[in-house]
Amino acid sequence: MNTGTQKEQLTSLRQYFDSSITRPYAFRLQQLKQLKRSILAHEQHINDALQADLKKSPEETWVTETGLLLQEISHTIKHLKQWMQPERVSTNLLNLPSSSHLYPSPLGVVLVIGPWNFPLQLLLIPVIGAIAAGNCVVMKPSEFAPATASLIEKIIAESYPPGLAMVVQGDGASVIPAMMNDFRFDHIFYTGSIPVGKAISQLAAKDLVPVTLELGGKDPCIVEKDADMKVAARRITVAKFSNAGQMCVAPDYLIVHEDVKDKLLSLMKEAIVQFYGKEPATTDGYCKIINEKRFDKLVSYLSQGNIVYGGEHDRSSLFIDPTVLDNVSLDAPVMNEEIFGPVLPVFTFRVQEEALGIIKRHPNPLSFYIFTSSRKREREWIEKVQFGNGCVNNAAWQFTNHHLPFGGIGQSGSGSYHGKKSFDVFTHKKAVMRTPAWFDPDLKYPPMKGKLKLLKFFLK
Ligand code: NAD
Repeated sequence: MNTGTQKEQLTSLRQYFDSSITRPYAFRLQQLKQLKRSILAHEQHINDALQADLKKSPEETWVTETGLLLQEISHTIKHLKQWMQPERVSTNLLNLPSSSHLYPSPLGVVLVIGPWNFPLQLLLIPVIGAIAAGNCVVMKPSEFAPATASLIEKIIAESYPPGLAMVVQGDGASVIPAMMNDFRFDHIFYTGSIPVGKAISQLAAKDLVPVTLELGGKDPCIVEKDADMKVAARRITVAKFSNAGQMCVAPDYLIVHEDVKDKLLSLMKEAIVQFYGKEPATTDGYCKIINEKRFDKLVSYLSQGNIVYGGEHDRSSLFIDPTVLDNVSLDAPVMNEEIFGPVLPVFTFRVQEEALGIIKRHPNPLSFYIFTSSRKREREWIEKVQFGNGCVNNAAWQFTNHHLPFGGIGQSGSGSYHGKKSFDVFTHKKAVMRTPAWFDPDLKYPPMKGKLKLLKFFLK
């Protein structure tokens, strides 16, 4: 555990980085292996923390937290040596016979800020990239998942020397600006809401600190009439109601072709019962809402349409049924805010333009989902909607594929990570040209008079 004032702790991270101890491959590898060992050793504690914070089952915790984290560490360990190698790139005619290389280099001391909905992996997956890239890291877990936040602090304190990493707890709105008052981070990686993303961008701008923003938004899900309805119903249901809908990649609302709406909704009702039972309140695998504030907001949405399924809720246990809403006005608050909970408004379309009109009310969604059996239609949707990441005939699982960079666009964020991309986020590639001494033509030296023809040959 780090001791001393926060300013002293931050200074010790800066000194640790400046000592170059974090740069060698062997050091980085050792840190990654150590984190993997600690995560495995704390598997039960992780399950307990996520049960306490979100009522998550051990199985869901493995798939959406622990397993994902281990997969990222293993992939990084496997490829780290190769990612650290200088990369040779071409050299243009004007500069031949020089050679050109990109030298991957750590950024310095970086800050990673996480949200509460997947409180472990959304904080630690970026940290894996930062450590692999040779940085020192300050982590700020969400105060709204306190059991996981204090476990993360314990795991980091056990795994890492105090100069390499530290965990800062508390309300981000006060601790982050206070830290940034007298310390310049070399990068900020933020996952969370759009308004806080804007506040962090403003804080960072004052010292020109680069930021990666992993934000939210309203993720549309389209179901065409040629889709496999049973598969669509199962996949939309699990993506929408897993983590009780508190997932940035969950479908926010559904736009289904008018001809298949009744069929899809009846199959979704079946799927909800199959996955969460007739009484999800007592089901082990169904999560709770994070706190009263979010609960009250979500319950206010329930009266903004006709409830076609669900609607039961209980404030004392922070439970809200998986709920499907019909006849919702596009101007209702539920369609003007990111829902981030187990409430799914359903709209219909007959021609593509109608659906595009709804989507355009919330441009640049983080994720976009299309269910269709037509490759032509699939391409049309992908071209016409501007989104960060998505799936065809699936939803949310793209997040778990570390070969796909994960990130948003415009309002839903900037930058991406996972796998090699996480290493790249925290790496600066020094671009260096090496020029041999044996060839030193007069062409590049003054006086330039009379050389225009040759210059035009080499540079065009
Ligand atoms: P949040 O923005 O309220 O909080 C996230 C973190 O920011 C917390 O650690 C908090 O303490 C800190 N914070 C709050 N105010 C701050 C300030 N003024 N300055 C600095 N830090 C501050 O987000 P949340 O409610 O925890 O998460 C929900 C949001 O996150 C949703 O919008 C969701 O879509 C989004 N999200 C995005 C992704 C993604 O990968 N793109 C993943 C999960 C969640």
